[in-house]
Amino acid sequence: MVKSIDLFRCTGCGLCEKICPADIFRIDEEAGKMTILYQADCCNCLQCKYICPVDAISFTPSEPKKINMDKEWIKMKELMGAVDNPMAEETRKPAWQKAKEAAMKKAKEGGAQGGWNK
Ligand code: SF4
Ligand code: SF4
Repeated sequence: MVKSIDLFRCTGCGLCEKICPADIFRIDEEAGKMTILYQADCCNCLQCKYICPVDAISFTPSEPKKINMDKEWIKMKELMGAVDNPMAEETRKPAWQKAKEAAMKKAKEGGAQGGWNK
């Protein structure tokens, strides 16, 4: 879990705040430094550690939590300046999810005839 930010090193660049999937960071505008606001939400993905240009973020050892890598990839693309489009959400869905949604829609339209195992 994220533990602290070395305020002597932190430049307030904001990269950790942008990349954090758990949205735990907030900038202290007055000091121009990053702060940890929702520490308990940290999922230990370490992205902030790797993106920080001055290695200012330190961690306590803990078990990694499950994270949504689809969401991570979207954030990475946004940070890299990739162009987004309104259909992006749909096209990013994995094949299994599209197939499941199509099957559920079909079942709904035809009057559901039972569960997935039938
Ligand atoms: S380790 Fe991941 S979840 Fe935790 S503060 Fe860093 S970016 Fe956010
Ligand atoms: S990425 Fe590093 S230098 Fe930039 S705001 Fe976060 S802690 Fe500070």
